[in-house]
Parts: sequence; C-alpha cells; structure tokens
Amino acid sequence: MNIILLGAPGAGKGTQGLSLAEKFRIPQISTGDILRANVRSRTQLGLKAKEFMDKGALVPDDIVVNMLVDRINADDAKAGCILDGFPRNINQAEVLEKTLASMGKSISTVIGIEVDRKELVRRLSGRRVCRQCGASYHVIFNPPLNIGRCDKCGSEIYQRDDDKEDTIEARLKVYESETFPLVDYYSRKGLYRAIDGKGSVDQITLTIVGAIEQGSDNSKVS
Ligand code: AMP
Repeated sequence: MNIILLGAPGAGKGTQGLSLAEKFRIPQISTGDILRANVRSRTQLGLKAKEFMDKGALVPDDIVVNMLVDRINADDAKAGCILDGFPRNINQAEVLEKTLASMGKSISTVIGIEVDRKELVRRLSGRRVCRQCGASYHVIFNPPLNIGRCDKCGSEIYQRDDDKEDTIEARLKVYESETFPLVDYYSRKGLYRAIDGKGSVDQITLTIVGAIEQGSDNSKVS
C-alpha cells in the first residue's frame, strides 16, 4: 500500500498522514520533516536545502529524490508508506513511479486534500508545530492545552520559518505552478481521489480511509 497525500501547504497532509500511518501501520514519509531534521542537525544536505526552504521554493530534485529513494527502501516501508509532500512536481512523480516499479511496487491511491486559498493562508499563518513529534496546532482554532508545549509529547512547539507571511505566498505560488499539475497527471492514470479538506480532522480521516479502501475512480468523495 503506497499512498500519496497531495495538497497545498496547509491542506492537512501532515495531520492526516499521522492518523493514516497509525491506522494502516505503515510509516508516514514526509520529505519536509526529513529536510527539517537535516537543517536542525546542520548536515551538508540540510545546509543546502535551507536556502531554498527559507524562500518557499522547492529544494532541487537531485537532493530530494535521493533522500526519498533511500527512505522508501528502508525495512519499515516494506509493506508500504504514506507519502506526505512528495512528489511535488512531474519529474519527481516519474522518478517515484520508476523507483517503485523497480521494487515490484506501485502507487495505490493519490489522495488530493482540497482547501481554498483563503483557508490555507488562515491555517498556515496561525500554525504551530511540535519540534519533537510533528503534531500540528493553530494559535486560535486548535491551541495546545499548555502554551508552547505539545499536548502529545510535552516538547516545545514553534512557528516554522516558512509559515511566516511572506513565505506563505511564495509557497502557494510554487504549489500552483509546480505541484498542482499532478492532479491532472494522476487523474489521467485513474489514481486521483479528491477529498474536501474542510471539516473536522476525524471526519476527513474517515473520508480518506473510505477512499483508500474503495480504490480509485476519480470521483469526489464527501
Ligand atoms: P512541507 O513540510 O512539506 O511543507 O515542506 C517544507 C519545504 O521543504 C518546502 O517548502 C520545500 O522547500 C521543501 N520540500 C519538501 N518536500 C519537497 C519535495 N518533494 N521537493 C522539493 N522540495 C521539498
């Protein structure tokens, strides 16, 4: 089972990815999380990636693709994975397909979480995330019980640099020009399932689980 979560920044890929990984007992693979971990530990890859991440741009494919290929080859991803934030352009999608094929695998379903732009900006500008476990909060709509601390693991929560106003606009533009074409790409392959990303987190998870279990027929699920 190899599931792709597609959607603009702020659509809820990370939040839904966590729940789906638990439900299906396969890892959530977030290229953004792997890159941020590299930035934190100041690896060479992290230092190179940071320049692009700070601007809201995509990190060059050669960096991200190698990182992803290593990760999906790991033992814990043998039964499949939930891909969150990869692929982000057509080239990455093609490489992913070839890599999976070489392992005798394929993409099961592509879940497109759809949220309008105004709501995305509202979510991203108030978003806070846990440094440790990646749990996501919102300063107004979903604050943690103790200010600055994660409800789940007690670690510090913080605002990502790229969730600041100027970078949000740049990221949404990059999504529209580079990533959005994947909706058409996967629809043509009969793999795309559109999910309405507005509503309660649990309700959206249920809808996504339904879509994954039904397989792909390109219709909108609500
Ligand atoms: P995310 O946490 O998915 O919002 O990703 C944060 C940032 O990491 C993005 O704005 C990009 O700069 C970079 N990034 C994450 N995934 C990819 C990818 N598949 N290709 C290129 N850059 C990526």
